[in-house]
Amino acid sequence: MQRAEPQDFARVLSSMCTVPHPKARTAAERFLTTNPGDPGTYETVAALEEKAIGMLGAVAGHPSAGGYIASGGTEANIQAVRIARNRARTHRDVTSPNVVVPESAHFSFTKAADVLGIELRRAPLTDYRVDTDAMAALADEETVLMVGVAGTTEYGRVDPIPDIATLAHEYDALCHVDAAWGGFVLPFTGHEWNFAHAPIDTMTIDPHKMGQAVVPAGGLLARTQELLNPLAIDTPYLESTSQVTLTGTRSGAGVASAVGAMDALWPEGYRKAATTGQENAEWFANELSARGYAVVDPVLPLVAADIPHETIRKLRDRDWRISKTSSGELRIVMMPHVTREMLTAFVSDLDRIGQK
Ligand SMILES: *Cc1c(COP(=O)(O)O)cnc(C)c1O
Repeated sequence: MQRAEPQDFARVLSSMCTVPHPKARTAAERFLTTNPGDPGTYETVAALEEKAIGMLGAVAGHPSAGGYIASGGTEANIQAVRIARNRARTHRDVTSPNVVVPESAHFSFTKAADVLGIELRRAPLTDYRVDTDAMAALADEETVLMVGVAGTTEYGRVDPIPDIATLAHEYDALCHVDAAWGGFVLPFTGHEWNFAHAPIDTMTIDPHKMGQAVVPAGGLLARTQELLNPLAIDTPYLESTSQVTLTGTRSGAGVASAVGAMDALWPEGYRKAATTGQENAEWFANELSARGYAVVDPVLPLVAADIPHETIRKLRDRDWRISKTSSGELRIVMMPHVTREMLTAFVSDLDRIGQK
């Protein structure tokens, strides 16, 4: 099989990235060599970053949120853990901090734990959502953060965010919501996930996933700009006096493309992508069920189904870019580039290959 072109999405079915909106692409090119890490020198992109955070805040139910455009969900999650750890050190004298996360938490929290020297405690799930009683049982006076996922990476499920926020504050811990993937879909559902629905403290929401911006554009939001203070480091050789980001020099492309995409798509364009994605998810789930495959009910535009590994391997040989969940299910993410035509072609291939 020939290798696909690097930017060809025609057979990409399991990625959480997608074709950027044309306005996002143009904006990225225009700001490619700017560095928002040095706002004293690159003033235009620094102003654009404030705009990006205001718009991301609006998507997440809190237009006056603080935050910044990160390299991705991984950096945003690491930084959320770092805020909670540093804050607990000064507020509460916590010396061996722990963070309680759902078992479904993204592997970036494992990186955060390793880098920051905190203990990760994983709470079990019931029907793919975290069990808050189990979270309570894992928490103690050294707990600095409790995490809920709004749109899990493998099954697209939404944890009970208001309950997690209440629980976290009982322990004087912070509450972080990981909406890296789900954040641009959830505004068009009835789920309670954002700053307006619950007293959450921080959130990860990535423009470079469902937000249709270019990579790299992640988002870290905080209820107030002051919440970012535990991240501030003095920057002696720059005009600006301190920096809260994990990276130093970073491309303004992500910042500019996030604004370009949100300007073009919030809210109607995102609503359309979310609605079409959900319709495609339900159609695809029905097609697979009708063929006798066990399917995990798609709550958000993401379908996991039990397909024999050998069949998945043969579909990959036909150049379908697909991946599996940790338990081995085929996982299809209904990103904006995934059309009904693509899915129909995929199902035809499955029919051909699936029959022994
Ligand atoms: C993708 C994802 C991340 C990681 O984001 P990157 O941009 O890949 O670093 C974190 N959390 C969730 C829920 C995700 O889906």
